[in-house]
Formats: sequence, structure tokens, C-alpha cells
Amino acid sequence: MESAKVLEKIRDDWIRQVSSRLANVEGLREKIRGELQNFFDLLLVSVRTGRPDHMDPILNSWGEALTTGDLEDSAPTLTNLCGEIFQETVAICAAKLDGQESLALLQPVTAIMVHVMIAAGQLEKERELTFLQQRMDNLRGELERLDKSKSDFISVAAHELKTPLTLIEGYTAMFRELLEETDYSQHLQLLLEGMDQGADRLRRIIDDMIDVSLIDNNLLTLNFQPIWLNRMFAMLDEEFRQRIQQRKQELVILAFPGSNELLFADPERLHQAFRNLLSNAIKFTPDGGSITIDGRKLPGFVEITFTDTGIGIPQVDQLRIFEKFNRIGDAALHSSGTVKFKGGGPGLGLPITKGIIEAHGGALWVESEGYDEVQYPGSAFHVLIPARKEPPDEQIAKLFRPLTEMENR
Ligand code: ADP
Repeated sequence: MESAKVLEKIRDDWIRQVSSRLANVEGLREKIRGELQNFFDLLLVSVRTGRPDHMDPILNSWGEALTTGDLEDSAPTLTNLCGEIFQETVAICAAKLDGQESLALLQPVTAIMVHVMIAAGQLEKERELTFLQQRMDNLRGELERLDKSKSDFISVAAHELKTPLTLIEGYTAMFRELLEETDYSQHLQLLLEGMDQGADRLRRIIDDMIDVSLIDNNLLTLNFQPIWLNRMFAMLDEEFRQRIQQRKQELVILAFPGSNELLFADPERLHQAFRNLLSNAIKFTPDGGSITIDGRKLPGFVEITFTDTGIGIPQVDQLRIFEKFNRIGDAALHSSGTVKFKGGGPGLGLPITKGIIEAHGGALWVESEGYDEVQYPGSAFHVLIPARKEPPDEQIAKLFRPLTEMENR
């Protein structure tokens, strides 16, 4: 007998038995029955035509009906469902048909059901992927929103802090002027210095907060000018001499190829970045340790390294320290200081430094064997900046052309 005819013969049994296998609840069975009738009709068409793709529309509609809950459970529901249908079909064939009819029917049905199962599996994977993608997009959106509110908070807080600070600074200056006309000056001068230092510290923190929000919002603008790295290092040497002496440390500045060549960068921002790295090196290196500034010329780039003989940085934290507010260790043990051994700041120095270097088109990373306060493995911060021979702005390039031509001669 022709396979399609055999299939038609078992229609009623098939719909009844498959629907009761798939749903034990009476109400549900009725709903499923309609779907199974469609399934059966398409199966019939597929058997008749020998084309399993006639099953695709119903699979797609079942796939569409997969709920978020199904996908969250990550149970392979659609594939399971098709597997159950196939098993029941085989059972019906065994019970209701003779050997020959069974064979005639199961041959094409098996081929069709293999197609159905593969398609169901694929459909399920695709839906799962879309679902995961959606979930990731939602999470990303949430993270961006959180990051934005953090950055908004920083900029608002920074501006709010600035006003009272300006008042303190103004009154301190007025107070000083008044004191110069009195006799108490000696004693009060000392107090004033303390106030000045405090205000100065606060101003630097606020400036850092503003810089972080500029970087976060891609608003950091660079003022490209000619610079010579060796001159910048000499300035750092001068600026940090007293602090280095205070900590009985040694600062070694090596002359490396490229360090005496003109390049275009933002001198103030680059100086700020180098200052942060050097200040950290001093803070995280014990008394008597040493800090070396070295570098090398690479094709199109200059690499500068700040190497110290300090406490080092745990491997797990070597990326984290470049994120804002991500200082290592317990915030409760936080001790502020710009020179003091292990004196911490608000944890904004490295994110700003990274932002400045990246705004130049460079990169910043750290290498350290790990953290050890006995062996002092040290850390090496690498700064990679493009060796720009011309500024990006044509107007400024014109301005400095005589100088660059002189250098290249
Ligand atoms: P902070 O304001 O705390 O100095 P930074 O962003 O400059 O913030 O540095 C973040 C953290 O990275 C520091 O608190 C410190 O734990 C670690 N770190 C930075 N530089 C060094 C270094 N040279 N040696 C060891 N640890 C360092």
C-alpha cells in the first residue's frame, strides 16, 4: 500500500494518541489537538511529495511560541516535543499496522522526522541566541546607564565642591593679607599654611573628578604642541626631587633613542600623566628604593617605561586599577597622601592617565610579577604614544612648520 494511504489510515488514532501523550490535562489536550491536526496534514503532504520542508511553517510557528520562560530553563522543548511525536508514531505503527504497512510508512516518516528534529534544534538555538542577545543588550544598557549616572554624579559633585573651595581659598588669601599687618603673623602663618595645603589637596581631587568626567564623556581635548621627552623628564626630576629625597629613593632617568626628538603631544596633559605615574611609583616603593624612567623607539611610536622597585601589583588587579575608583585593597584602610609609603588617593590617577594616553592614540599597561611586601618585585608601567612629527590640526602644523623642518634637517 502507498505510504500516504497508510498514514491516512492511522489519522484518528495518531491525533488522539499523540495529543494524549503530549498533554495529560483535558483542556490542554483540546488545544494541542488543533495543532497536531495541522502537523499531521503537513506530514501527509511531505510524505506525498517526498519533501520534508513542508513541515517548516508549523515548526516556525511553534518556535515563535517558545516563551522566555522555556528559553530561560534552556530545556530543549521543541526538539523534545518532536521526539515524542516520532516515538508515538512508531508505537502506533507497531500496534495498528502490519509489518509491510509499517515499513512503507516509517521509511518516509523517519526521513521527514529527522529533518523536523534538526530544524527544531536549529530553531531553538536561534531563538535562544536572540534571547541571550536581548538579555545582553538589556544588561549593557543598564550598565551604561549606571556608568553614566556615576559620571554625572562625579561632575555634579566636583562642581558643587568647587564653590565652597573657592570661598576657602579667597578668605585664606584675605586672612593672610590682614596678618601681614599684625604681630601674630609667625604663629598664624603656620595655620594658614595648613589651610592652604588642605585647600590645594581638595582642588587637585576636584580637578581629577572633572578630568574623569571629561574622559568618560569623550570631551578631553588635546592641545598639540612640540615636546621633547627628555625635557619633560628633566622637569619631573626637578619637581619630584624633594619628595624623592624625603623618601631616600633614587630616580634614574635614562637617555633612550627618541627621547631627544621633537614630537607633537599635549605637554600639559602628558606631564599630568607622567606625574601620576611617577607619584604612584614613589608612593608604592619603600624608602631606599629606586625608580627608573626608560624607553625605546618603535616604528611610529615611542614607548616610555616607569619601573619601580616597589610592592608590585597582584595579577588579578592589573586591569582593574585602570578603572575609576578601583583602588586595590580595603577602602576602610585608605590613607591619603601624595608621598607617604602606600598613601592612597581617590583612585582616579590611573584612569585619568590612561584616558590622556589613549586620547593621544596611545596605550597604557602595567607589568608586575605580583604583589609582595617582602621581596618587592616592583612594577613597570608602559606608556606607548604615537611619535607624531606633525600635529593633527593643519593650522597648528603650519605654525610649527619652520621648527619641524629645522628638526628634520
Ligand atoms: P590612587 O589615587 O589610589 O593613587 P591610582 O589610580 O593612581 O589611584 O592607582 C590605583 C591603585 O593602583 C593604587 O591605589 C595602587 O593600589 C595601585 N598602584 C598604582 N601604581 C602602583 C605602583 N607603581 N606600584 C604598586 N601599586 C600601584
